[in-house]
Amino acid sequence: MVRTSSDTRRRISAKERVKAKSNRCDFCGGPFGLIRHRTLTHQFCRLSCKSKYLQRRMRQVAARKRMLAEALSLSVYDRLFGAKEAPSRKRS
Ligand SMILES: [Zn+2]
Repeated sequence: MVRTSSDTRRRISAKERVKAKSNRCDFCGGPFGLIRHRTLTHQFCRLSCKSKYLQRRMRQVAARKRMLAEALSLSVYDRLFGAKEAPSRKRS
């Protein structure tokens, strides 16, 4: 495989993008101050950014758990009673 100068340019710009992203908050995109608040894989400029990110992630996980529970209950229901008599979805 022959690399052209445009490939090199693209690769360098991708590296620069990663570096630029690593110097920004993962929640708001703002620059870091003297203190960085961290999770295992993310960095945040403020404690409020970290807590908002964690709250959003907890909501996403809860929504996925709800969807999985609905899908499992529906599939079990379908297996027991057939797909025609599936119950209507309830909001709780
Ligand atoms: Zn931030």
